[in-house]
Amino acid sequence: MIEFQSVSKQYSADAVALRDVSLNIAKGELAYLAGPSGAGKSTLFKMIAAIERPTSGRVLVNGQDIGKLGNAGVPFLRRKLGLVLQDQRLLTDRTVLANAMLPLLVTGAPRREAEQRARAALEKVGMLDRASAMPLELSGGEQQRVAIARAIVNRPQIILADEPTANLDRASADKVLDALRAFNAVGVTCLISTHDEQVLESAKRVIHIEHGQLVGGAA
Ligand code: ADP
Ligand code: ADP
Repeated sequence: MIEFQSVSKQYSADAVALRDVSLNIAKGELAYLAGPSGAGKSTLFKMIAAIERPTSGRVLVNGQDIGKLGNAGVPFLRRKLGLVLQDQRLLTDRTVLANAMLPLLVTGAPRREAEQRARAALEKVGMLDRASAMPLELSGGEQQRVAIARAIVNRPQIILADEPTANLDRASADKVLDALRAFNAVGVTCLISTHDEQVLESAKRVIHIEHGQLVGGAA
């Protein structure tokens, strides 16, 4: 479902973020991405979403070469992806419900249907009772669960979550991870980056990355 073929990413002469990364994530898989800060995790996510392009190598999503996508193809790719990325915070000037509806309204869904689906998504992450709250009234973990609802409201085949449990206490982190695992359980392919040792220890598949290189688990 996600395939990297010898992917390298160099932002500038002295900023090499990924070096010859090859990996395969199968449909329906739940894989964790582990590695220290600066290892290249965010860059790897951005390549899948075509936010950044590889300097060399190929990235395929569903067999489709991202490098060959024209500008018109990018929105189609992103519709397959639920993104919970570091630099995509909730909009603080509107309610939880309005945040969750946004991706649907952007793609032209009728308001009524958007609201219905956004409520369903919020229910799945246990945040429906806070639908009319403003994001800043929520805890960090609650905000992340809303971000997950927003990411899945388009029913993507893939969820990419970049450190969704950073700075959360155990109980909040578990709720965030449970929400992601529940979508995986119904067939959504998940790639989640985390430093959470407890999660990594019990994970079926961990992809380790250091200095832009895979240290195992790629297969
Ligand atoms: P991680 O998510 O694992 O912390 P990143 O992918 O953010 O790692 O960063 C990997 C490396 O690429 C770091 O050395 C970082 O400084 C560099 N980097 C990331 N984004 C940019 C950018 N836009 N321009 C230049 N260098 C960048
Ligand atoms: P832009 O391309 O508008 O500069 P981004 O690169 O941040 O902005 O995001 C690109 C597109 O990805 C958005 O227009 C939206 O369609 C989609 N997108 C971003 N975040 C999400 C999300 N959480 N859920 C669904 N789609 C999203």
